[in-house]
Amino acid sequence: MTERFEELSEIRFVRTHCPICGDEAGARELYPANVQPQDLSPSTFSARRKPDRVHYRVVVCTGCGLARADPVVDTVALMAFYEASHFGYVAQIADLTATYRAQFARVARSRGPINKLLEVGCGNGFFLKEALRMGVAEVCGVEASREAVGRADPDVKDKIITSPFTGDLFQRDTFDLVCLFQVLDHLPAPAETLKACFSALRPGGMILSFHHNLTAVSARVLRERSPIIDVEHTFLFTPKTTRRLLETVGFGTVSVRPAVNRHSVEYLVSLLPPGAVTSVISRVASSMRLGGLSLWLPIGNTVATGVKPS
Ligand SMILES: [Zn+2]
Repeated sequence: MTERFEELSEIRFVRTHCPICGDEAGARELYPANVQPQDLSPSTFSARRKPDRVHYRVVVCTGCGLARADPVVDTVALMAFYEASHFGYVAQIADLTATYRAQFARVARSRGPINKLLEVGCGNGFFLKEALRMGVAEVCGVEASREAVGRADPDVKDKIITSPFTGDLFQRDTFDLVCLFQVLDHLPAPAETLKACFSALRPGGMILSFHHNLTAVSARVLRERSPIIDVEHTFLFTPKTTRRLLETVGFGTVSVRPAVNRHSVEYLVSLLPPGAVTSVISRVASSMRLGGLSLWLPIGNTVATGVKPS
């Protein structure tokens, strides 16, 4: 992380609050910060960058158990970082598409045809392409990273709005399904974003969020060395706090389940903390030429759905 973000004259840090309990709730420290302001750059906030174990101070709300970073860089700087962030995950797109397709297919089976779909944080639109291929009539994406949108295929590029997601981008009661894939943990104000999703959904429409689970085995074993303890994550949810937040916003029929991801062995090894064990695993995978092999594994994600009441 040698690149500094030249457009910001100074980086301000601000306190965060629990979006479930409000600003009166107490918090206890889980991990002290190990990030310095000079560490922060658009590269730090680039989607799916190699984990480097740099993180803010992490606290847990004593009211509801929701973990969050506190303090964090202020929202103006954060959005500037995301807008200038890089797109560098072409090699993972096939596996990511398979992972998200499985979640979409499950929703489509239970809900019937999805005509209008919105994806918040759609990157270069790879899932929007897949949704069209799977029969969704109309897709729309919102993405802050200018570089990611610039890399979108022509058939979806004009369906992506290059902007942070806000409630005034869409008319109320528009979409059948709003998807957030690996987005919820990154948001500075997740309740506000979910309220905007709620507004954009038609009555009876569904939200689908795929995000990290702080109580997954990998997070509990690796603790501070887990790749999810990362400066990109403002909030870290458990199934319980995911449910609480969706219900607080107004969603009904909330379901929260463990999810499986498809990833290459090479990518999975890159997530492990550096050390002797990782080195041995890496050498074994390399000698057996396993790097390109993709596997379905429960590596610590949650999929949550909720319905906007009719
Ligand atoms: Zn709380």
